Amino acid sequence: MKTLLFLILGLLLCSFELNACENKGPNIILFTLDGVRRQEFFKGTDPILRDQLPSNEPTSIFKSLWSKQSNQGIIFGSSDHYQIASHVSVSLPSYQALFTGHANDCKDNHCGTIQEKTFLETIAQTLKLPAKDVAAFASWEGLKFAVASDASKITEVIYPEIVNFPKDPVLMNLQHQAMKDLPTWHESRKDQYTFEMGMHYLKNYCPRILYLSLVDSDEYGHIGDYPGYVKSLRTYDSYLEKIIQTLNLLGDYGKQTTLFVTTDHSRGDGLKWTIHGTDDPVEKNVFLFMKGRGVHPIGLTNKSATHANIRPSIEYLMGIKPTGPVLPHLSIQ
Ligand SMILES: [Zn+2]
Repeated sequence: MKTLLFLILGLLLCSFELNACENKGPNIILFTLDGVRRQEFFKGTDPILRDQLPSNEPTSIFKSLWSKQSNQGIIFGSSDHYQIASHVSVSLPSYQALFTGHANDCKDNHCGTIQEKTFLETIAQTLKLPAKDVAAFASWEGLKFAVASDASKITEVIYPEIVNFPKDPVLMNLQHQAMKDLPTWHESRKDQYTFEMGMHYLKNYCPRILYLSLVDSDEYGHIGDYPGYVKSLRTYDSYLEKIIQTLNLLGDYGKQTTLFVTTDHSRGDGLKWTIHGTDDPVEKNVFLFMKGRGVHPIGLTNKSATHANIRPSIEYLMGIKPTGPVLPHLSIQ
């Protein structure tokens, strides 16, 4: 009986938290997974690298996405028809191109803060959104150089600094824990904390635009840890499922939300999987999954597009004039 009471209480508290979102219009969630290859996204574990995994490990990786979600949305990139927007397959140049809608002169991760307004800033300005309604959560420090030219206009929860962060005890506690439990690589917090912070923010602050950026995958790639890389991708698949389930519980707010999931660059083929940023064009071919408001649910598409179409698509969905061509199969009535 006691267990039942706790269960009912738990469900009530949970539904209270999830019903707290007021529907103020269209919303966007952009979720990026750093340095994920099309091989693992579309086909699962690499036959050339599979012997590094336990023999009973399943070959499919993004299992929930392919079994439950793929036909509920659109997936670009199964052939070579979806590319990043930057000239080089390196993180900061690619993220800067994604957030402005075009390539710039940035060639490496040391080119500094983006010099023009990103779509997060222009949408916040055009729709007069307060900083708390446009939030960026990122594990990797470098994202602070890509998401905004002026960090004061949005909420940033990017390792290690926090800008315009609400004095929320749950978020403060997660931040504190993350700083005490840093990964072996530098300039990042562990994805588990970034994700938990972002999900808490989604449920309690109902942002109009939420950007979630995870990086463990790229770091495992650079140290050549294939089991670690594959494990991080399986975790991302479960995170994606959690985002979708949460949106399903958020009523009109969830129905008014469009979700974008992609990566900043791919990596080399086969044994060259640990590296990226070379001249090999394969590193620029990536994937994009979209689901939710405005997305025609047709599953896989061979239509051509690039990361440069993401900014105009988000502008279009948010009801402002797109600054470029919108992605195929996207329309709002
Ligand atoms: Zn990298």
